[in-house]
Amino acid sequence: NDFSKKSPSDNSRREKIAINGAGPVGALLAVMLAKKGYQVDLFESRPDSRKTNIYQGKSINLALSDRGWKALNAVGLDDEIRQQAIPMYCRVMHDIEGNITKQPYGTEEQAIWSVSRSGINEQLIDLAEQEPQVNVHFDHRLVQLNFADNTAVYLNENHHQKIHESDLVFGADGAFSKVRRLMQELPKERISYSLDYMQQSYMELSIAANEDGSHKLEKNALHIWPRKDFMLIALPNIDGSFTCTLFLNHEGELSFASLNTKAKVTAFFHQYFAEAMQYLADPVEDFLSKTPSPLCLVHIYPWLVNDSIALIGDAAHAMVPFYGQGMNCGFEDCRILSELVEKHEHQWADILAAYQDERKENGDAIIELAKRNFVEMSDLAGDERFLLRKKIEAK
Ligand code: FAD
Repeated sequence: NDFSKKSPSDNSRREKIAINGAGPVGALLAVMLAKKGYQVDLFESRPDSRKTNIYQGKSINLALSDRGWKALNAVGLDDEIRQQAIPMYCRVMHDIEGNITKQPYGTEEQAIWSVSRSGINEQLIDLAEQEPQVNVHFDHRLVQLNFADNTAVYLNENHHQKIHESDLVFGADGAFSKVRRLMQELPKERISYSLDYMQQSYMELSIAANEDGSHKLEKNALHIWPRKDFMLIALPNIDGSFTCTLFLNHEGELSFASLNTKAKVTAFFHQYFAEAMQYLADPVEDFLSKTPSPLCLVHIYPWLVNDSIALIGDAAHAMVPFYGQGMNCGFEDCRILSELVEKHEHQWADILAAYQDERKENGDAIIELAKRNFVEMSDLAGDERFLLRKKIEAK
């Protein structure tokens, strides 16, 4: 069949694995399972971003922390990613009067790292392609899954249906996972599920580099403009720019919906972000031309069907971004799963049961922490009493 571009080697493991979604989590999982000897097919609904530039020159970034590094280290990718990453040793709070306060992330130069979202994804896909046992299929959208025999149906770029059989199936297809939606339709599985939208939505804005390529704000920091019910944050990019994210109520008195004229948006930025206005590139035009994106969190249980189909990453535990842990947590899922493969000697029923046991609880905890961190970032982080308490605690 036209799926098997690379043939399995003589010492391949028996089980064939299909991973749906070549986001950061699916791509990392493909590498890890191939290294354990499995033949992996990685399916991605979008075209190959390395060839088509679907990101349209946008540099969107995210914070990589310890749990993410640990997983990347397990596949030897940490050094390569670190070369393109910027350590952020502190957060810098910008209050409404333009005063600046620094809050270090640790006493020993601990940092979280700003990485390009497309960059890290593409590096992981490169790595997956280098594995002799991984076939990557772009432009393949999962549309149906037969849970009785793990046969999946894909639509390719020409809208032709293609059928693929495997022994194990992973849903690494993100917050609105198709694998998860198909699982939920199974009448006998008793799947509990919730998807909650946050009051806030978000929009990306940007700060361009200085003419000499340097950063307009302190480079090695995560910048926050906390305004209680809303906030702006900025993470540095290696080209000297910053990617900013505005979190604001979706609707209501002061919201993306209410700021619906140029005059209102201009007044909003001048009133709340006067200092940031010196640096932001066309925030008013950006605001008026873009559509805000929703933020949601997902709970589902079980994560498994028939001991052979499992959810991972955002598909299992989408969370809000206020703790910067969504991708990190998905990377940790991969690392733990990979360790369980060894521990349970390639017995998949045991591996998946142990994976679900261990990761579901942790996923729930981090979803909750992420939700609560909005208050810490947007309100408490700029609150003088809170800063004082932090200072006292640090002593
Ligand atoms: P995704 O990245 O969503 O990838 C899923 C892939 O599946 C996509 O490529 C998609 O095209 C593909 N797909 C979807 N449906 C199908 C289908 N039917 N068939 C085939 N393929 C399909 N996390 C952090 O760790 N640190 C941060 O600082 C951080 N900041 C964030 C800021 C914002 C504003 C947001 C929204 C999120 C942030 N996150 C952060 C979260 C992080 O982006 C996600 O947790 C991470 O992208 C999840 O990776 P994933 O591979 O599970 O899912």
